[in-house]
Amino acid sequence: MTPRLVVLLGDQLHDAISSLRAAEAGRDHVLLAEVDDEARYVPHHPQKIALLFSAMRHFAQQLRQQGWHVHYHAYQPNTEQRSLLDVIQALHKQHGYESVLITQCGEYRLQQLIEHQWPTTLGVAVTCFNDDRFIATPEQFAQWAQGRKQLRMEYFYRDMRRQTGLLMEGDEPTGGQWNFDADNRQKYRGEVPLPPALTFERDDIDAEVLALVQTHFSEHAGSLEHFNWATTRNDALKALQHFIDHRLPWFGDYQDAMVMDEPLMFHSLIAPYLNCGLLLPMEVCRAAEQAYLDGHAPLNAVEGFIRQIIGWREYVRGIYWLKMPDYATLNAQGNQRALPSFYWHGETKMQCMKQCFNSTFKYAYAHHIQRLMVTGNFALLAGIKPQDICDWYLAVYADAYDWVELPNTLGMVMHADGGYLVSKPYAASGNYINKMSDYCSHCHYSVKTATDDDSCPFNSLYWHFMQRHREQFARNPRMGMIYRSFDRMKAEKQHAIIARAEHLLDHIEEL
Ligand SMILES: Cc1cc2nc3c(=O)[nH]c(=O)nc-3n(C[C@H](O)[C@H](O)[C@H](O)COP(=O)(O)OP(=O)(O)OC[C@H]3O[C@@H](n4cnc5c(N)ncnc54)[C@H](O)[C@@H]3O)c2cc1C
Ligand code: SF4
Repeated sequence: MTPRLVVLLGDQLHDAISSLRAAEAGRDHVLLAEVDDEARYVPHHPQKIALLFSAMRHFAQQLRQQGWHVHYHAYQPNTEQRSLLDVIQALHKQHGYESVLITQCGEYRLQQLIEHQWPTTLGVAVTCFNDDRFIATPEQFAQWAQGRKQLRMEYFYRDMRRQTGLLMEGDEPTGGQWNFDADNRQKYRGEVPLPPALTFERDDIDAEVLALVQTHFSEHAGSLEHFNWATTRNDALKALQHFIDHRLPWFGDYQDAMVMDEPLMFHSLIAPYLNCGLLLPMEVCRAAEQAYLDGHAPLNAVEGFIRQIIGWREYVRGIYWLKMPDYATLNAQGNQRALPSFYWHGETKMQCMKQCFNSTFKYAYAHHIQRLMVTGNFALLAGIKPQDICDWYLAVYADAYDWVELPNTLGMVMHADGGYLVSKPYAASGNYINKMSDYCSHCHYSVKTATDDDSCPFNSLYWHFMQRHREQFARNPRMGMIYRSFDRMKAEKQHAIIARAEHLLDHIEEL
């Protein structure tokens, strides 16, 4: 029988993926390809490239052991086959495939090429399967969103709880409440020791890939020195177990906490594995739920963790597929400021930003609150062009893929979608950062003041942002109080704050 070609993308590294389930090991071929176009369309962190290339090579080895006929296109810098389609075309010429099988990809741009360009260029059918690693299909999400003027993650999340049965007792949520967030959000003061580190043994494949990435991608921001990501499913499962054993019980309490030189805290660090297929969302959630049932972790931690995965993760994906391609071009505040260069080199006197950059470049990681309330908050307050800041987030994190990065950055952080994803911008002054971290006591700037030469930049930029967009936000019932408190200040103080913010924006590279 004529073989078909199963094309597996770098984020589809699971042997139960829908395209493989539709194929036969004795008949069909599988392709995995490391291609220049995908590795370079933003300057991805070297650790992200190394994680994916190594995980792909390990996965190819596993598939061969399972009896699959695998074509592996290893990275070649000067080849003419720069795109995935180039590689497929060359193979198709050799083998004359009956058709191409693929699972829906995570990026609108590539999905358009798969659906519209591939069939005509290749001259064979391209069958695209739903990615059923996710709980909700794009169609299901679109149906849920239909007729709602503004979407609320919380309601979507409750539907996901009902659909999966996670933390449910019949029709009722376990513990009588859907959401235990009020019990979370504590500052960390060393009440419990930070969890032990987990490291992975490296093999020849890892070593070869790390050397390759060092040779060809070392000009990208970020270093390989502290590379400590799992590159096989077995190691990703160990990472999950390590999280359940050592971090999950305190995940809720310290989810928002930030501590000097401790970027990992009680977070799971599993997003890169979930997003590339080494772990599946439901197995992760079931493991967390089991920890609650076994009495190992409290409900506020387990519910908070599960909400991130079946709530936020599914919700942002739904919005991505519902709103693309226009979503990527939205700029509700009309921001025009270019991204300051310290986002790429990490040198700044703002300790909070420096801490986030250090972690980002060292580990290709920063936790959610660092992304949202520090580097994201700064970009929001300073009025950075959404496209610039989106490209940055897509490049620098090991877990970054268009479908999840874009709604988080453009919608959640920049509010550039006009409030479709979240109703109120997550804008905050230095006060919030001081409340949730110990950064301010190690900073060049003073968090207590707004108008002095050494005042925390977030303090005046916050009010500048609010005033700049007064017309847009003053009508928001959740923000009226903020405007009233600015209006109660003496005119002299108001002018001094705005003048200080304008000075900072004019000298943004010097912060
Ligand atoms: C500006 C910005 C950009 C982001 N870009 C990405 C991205 O490219 N890829 C990505 O996976 N996450 C992204 N996030 C969401 C979140 O910050 C990361 O998922 C999380 O920090 C990953 O670390 P962790 O695995 O230790 O997560 P934990 O804090 O342990 O959370 C558990 C899991 O919940 C999921 N999750 C939590 N919050 C979100 C969210 N808002 N959206 C989607 N999933 C979520 C992740 O899968 C994560 O692994 C972004 C957030 C912001 C504010
Ligand atoms: S004082 Fe301001 S700039 Fe410095 S760490 Fe605190 S919030 Fe950041």
